[in-house]
Amino acid sequence: MDRLSGAAACGAAVKADGYGLGASDVARRLAAAGCRDFFVATWREAEALAPLGLMVSVLHGLRADDMALATSGIARPVLSTDAQVARWRNAGGGACDVMVDTGMNRLGVSSAAVRDGLLAGLRIETLVSHLACADEDSPMNERQRALFASLAGVTDARRMSLANSAGVALGSGFHFDLVRPGLALYGGVARPELAAIRQVAVPEAQILQRRLVPAGETVGYNATWTARAATEVAILNIGYADGYFRGFSDRGAAGDLPVIGRVSMDLTAIDVSAQPELAEGDWVALDFALPQAAAQSGMSQYELLTSLGARFDRMWM
Ligand SMILES: *Cc1c(COP(=O)(O)O)cnc(C)c1O
Repeated sequence: MDRLSGAAACGAAVKADGYGLGASDVARRLAAAGCRDFFVATWREAEALAPLGLMVSVLHGLRADDMALATSGIARPVLSTDAQVARWRNAGGGACDVMVDTGMNRLGVSSAAVRDGLLAGLRIETLVSHLACADEDSPMNERQRALFASLAGVTDARRMSLANSAGVALGSGFHFDLVRPGLALYGGVARPELAAIRQVAVPEAQILQRRLVPAGETVGYNATWTARAATEVAILNIGYADGYFRGFSDRGAAGDLPVIGRVSMDLTAIDVSAQPELAEGDWVALDFALPQAAAQSGMSQYELLTSLGARFDRMWM
């Protein structure tokens, strides 16, 4: 992503526990790879990263309840409302980031207010905005880019930052000084131009039981799968409570071993006819390449990552 973003610095969104993979583990490795700017959603998330001593920005900004943590200096708030700007000024200011809305109408101060001097005198490290449709070829991308670019020089911001993962692929006009990919760092493919991105997270599960299901019998809740012939079946210790969603019922697979029947909360059945040697206690890797897994399960690539549950051991290879 750093290479694709040209002269712009490449930061990282590590919110939602590093998109489900473990924020500290992710941030430590990205820092070792040269990443210097990290984005979380909440102050609690910033607190969890504090021992690493990184430059962290908090996208949810500065609620009244956040003042103690925010003034402790562990991270910068990304101010996104007029009230937050006033709150930060009253607390003495200090380095901050500011989110300006360029048309998404989610978080951010208005560009008109910025032109009218809302941010005058504020010590802004990064002026930030966010693209609503970067994963599509929408005219809105260019509208947002042009509006954001027109704010260059209007504030004292040291840097400007617009692009998420998909935005990086929209071209150099979207890169400004800093890009903020999340999904792409974790193996998500937000646009066809990013198809070279490889899978990062591989969920594995263990076989708790292997059984021969006679022809005519069914497997799992609601008996949705019926054996046409006697079938070798393994029951895995993974289910929707682990983020292996019910959408994988009868559609997911572990290589040449298809999921059969309903995925349940803690268990999933696969047809192991193709691998006679697999036994109780063996581990199998579930297919989880994000674009394909999203199509199979009906979930977004983001949901698949951020739903990976607390019952996994997260092992780094
Ligand atoms: C989540 C988020 C990102 C990262 O987006 P991806 O689509 O995961 O690359 C960047 N900026 C902001 C403001 C975000 O909320």
